[in-house]
Amino acid sequence: MISLETGPPEFRYTAMIRHNPTGEVRSYHDTWELQHGEGGLIFMWTEGNYGCDCNRKTFFERAANPAYKMPEQSVCGDTGYSVNLVVEGRTIHKEFDL
Ligand SMILES: [Zn+2]
Repeated sequence: MISLETGPPEFRYTAMIRHNPTGEVRSYHDTWELQHGEGGLIFMWTEGNYGCDCNRKTFFERAANPAYKMPEQSVCGDTGYSVNLVVEGRTIHKEFDL
């Protein structure tokens, strides 16, 4: 039974996002719907929309400034950012060594 007030159950995760040209790493905290699972989360950050630099840049900026909005002209690519995904201290997806 899903409550309309609280929405579907979610789990928390952290995306450690590295801006590859500078090596700066920021932690972006978010939630993911339990029903889509860790596999779905990894898929989203690799094959899915979050795998693209335009979205990764937005999350990287929001990690420092939550009010950051994605610009209308954003740059797509797949080399600008690397991401490790962490759930309760477990690294479930790793693209770079800290
Ligand atoms: Zn893109």
